[in-house]
Amino acid sequence: MARHGGRRPVIPRCTWCRTTLGTLILYAVEAGASACGWGYHACPGCLAAERLVPFAHHPAMARGPRMRYPDVVPAALLRRLALLGDDPRLTPVVRRLLAADARLRDRRTPPPDRHAAGALLRSALLDLRTLARGGLTTAEGAP
Ligand SMILES: [Zn+2]
Repeated sequence: MARHGGRRPVIPRCTWCRTTLGTLILYAVEAGASACGWGYHACPGCLAAERLVPFAHHPAMARGPRMRYPDVVPAALLRRLALLGDDPRLTPVVRRLLAADARLRDRRTPPPDRHAAGALLRSALLDLRTLARGGLTTAEGAP
């Protein structure tokens, strides 16, 4: 990578606070990079503060560039979600949330569909809260 003086960094580093310690979560991949190509990481604290969606949860058709959670997701929930990182059990719920939010933002969406998208958004948010409250721990720890 030319802009790193030809030296390719091998240790992931948080884009914001520069830490290399603890769990770092991949949140964006440079366009054209392969699956193991150049990626951007954040620590859980910065992930939550910047409202970043982990790369693993990006919509299947729009993966890569940095994505942020919509304003409807409260900061406290983002902090709990950041601790769960890119756990695959969150992926379908986050994708539902992002799809519903995109429908709501689209001015061409007719009112009945907006109503349905609003209901989908609230249901996805509720599921995220349940998972963040320990739904993942319970599922994992169940005998
Ligand atoms: Zn950080």
